[in-house]
Amino acid sequence: MSPNRHAFIPALAEIVGIDNVESSEKELEDWRDPYDYRGTHRRKPLAVVSPASTEEVQAIVRAAGVHKVPLWSFSTGRNYGYGGPASATAHAVLVSLRRMNRILEVNEESAYAVVEPGVRFFDLYEALGERGHTLWPSIPDLGWGSVVGNTLEHGVGFTPLGDHPMRQCGMEVVLADGTVLRTGMGAMEGNRASYHAKRGFGPSADGLFMQSNFGIVTKMGVWLTPRPEVFMSCDVRIEREEDLPALVDLTRKLLLDSTLQNSPIIYNTLRIARAFGGVGREYWYTGEGSIPDEGLDEMASQLDCGRWFMRFALYGRREVVNANFGVCERTFGEIPDARVEGRLFDGASVPTELGEDTLGSTQKPSDALKALRHQCAAVQAGVPSLTLLENVRWEDASVAGHLDYSPVAPTTGPEAERVVTMLQRCYLEAGMDLSASLMISARSFTTISMLWYDTEDAEAVAAAKTFLRTLIKTGAEHGYAPYRSHLDVMDEVAHLFDFGHHALSRFNNRIKYALDPAGILSPGKQGIL
Ligand code: ADP
Repeated sequence: MSPNRHAFIPALAEIVGIDNVESSEKELEDWRDPYDYRGTHRRKPLAVVSPASTEEVQAIVRAAGVHKVPLWSFSTGRNYGYGGPASATAHAVLVSLRRMNRILEVNEESAYAVVEPGVRFFDLYEALGERGHTLWPSIPDLGWGSVVGNTLEHGVGFTPLGDHPMRQCGMEVVLADGTVLRTGMGAMEGNRASYHAKRGFGPSADGLFMQSNFGIVTKMGVWLTPRPEVFMSCDVRIEREEDLPALVDLTRKLLLDSTLQNSPIIYNTLRIARAFGGVGREYWYTGEGSIPDEGLDEMASQLDCGRWFMRFALYGRREVVNANFGVCERTFGEIPDARVEGRLFDGASVPTELGEDTLGSTQKPSDALKALRHQCAAVQAGVPSLTLLENVRWEDASVAGHLDYSPVAPTTGPEAERVVTMLQRCYLEAGMDLSASLMISARSFTTISMLWYDTEDAEAVAAAKTFLRTLIKTGAEHGYAPYRSHLDVMDEVAHLFDFGHHALSRFNNRIKYALDPAGILSPGKQGIL
């Protein structure tokens, strides 16, 4: 495809107005992969266009077909560790859906909202409060991204409806030829259960538009959690590294029997030190290579967070929550020295009871536990924040960037040990510190392991990308694949799914060719052409 830039940009301006098309060098700088090497702008786009309606998205797609220019669409472009707003290939026109930020409906009775792609978690949370609803959104740890973008990327949150693809219900999608399609019951004009019932008649198409380039999602229904009578934000602290398998096994049982209703997260000490310790790495260690085990013990002791810290929450009627907390105390009490604590909130006044975010005053390691618990309570009650951006305190915040490797494994103790040992070996060999969090659900868990580097140092960026590839390869040798990936490695990750001579890839490419033969929509996304 040879992009016809000169004719396409005026065509875009005609559709959305000149103020909503950016194409100068200076403007394009704002839309780069924020954590790529700062010295160059790889994959520089031709332009960025910001439509305000589904009709404008349709017109853009049609014009892109005429001018043979590829588009790359995103909702808010804030999935920084995976490439932000940047496209997989250079010279695309980025379609920013940030201006499509209306909350179209909130249904109190059936506990759902219908949102456009530019609606951020902050926006949904604030709108629910302002409009007097008693519904909680599910949000990820950082509240600045969009409800739609996060869902499409298989994102998770931490209220009982935290599996975002599962709580999605009803999409509106613009296809490459400009057709507008609705999924589920919404595919029937005037259907009254469009946002209540997940399935319609025939194959469920929704999943085809997640982590894919088959269409641009312009509207989505999302289920919400009715505010519970009480909410308890809880944690378990484990003193010994080797007790992780027991913690994972016990957690699985409590998830399978529904004592636990949300997705717990287990943090290693280093992850907490980075985000909440209030001091830089040099405070803890100035030697060569990774911080050694004794250093991590010292860290755990000063932060008072254990070698593993698991957060989880209980929701519902007061008697039930108190009884379930008793079950958790007894269950986790099987691990020697495990400390189980919970803080009970009145569901109607969680934000007030949370009070001010304490992180600003976290200047020393002994404040870390308080700040951490504050963040855990907030996110598990659907109150968005940017607290975890504090991660960058560890390095120089103005230049730090990260990539994530996030393999998925079965939720069993031995598997957790296997994944963590594999990662520890890789990080030790690379002389890096393993900062890990395990997001647990009843049958599988995802380990987010982070790779931090200086974005102004070309060699450091290249080394981090090489290391990411090593992790992907090593993980695959152990039988694991990541649930999501940075743009740079999408092809490699897609290639891991090789059953039946890559039957799934061939299936995806056949659908792609049927829907978008000219490859207009997000070429290269998830390794699909
Ligand atoms: P966030 O909500 O965290 O800002 P993004 O908007 O960056 O997330 O979305 C992450 C990825 O999901 C994008 O790179 C894109 O591939 C895909 N995506 C996001 N929104 C849409 C959409 N409305 N339609 C199609 N794909 C989308």
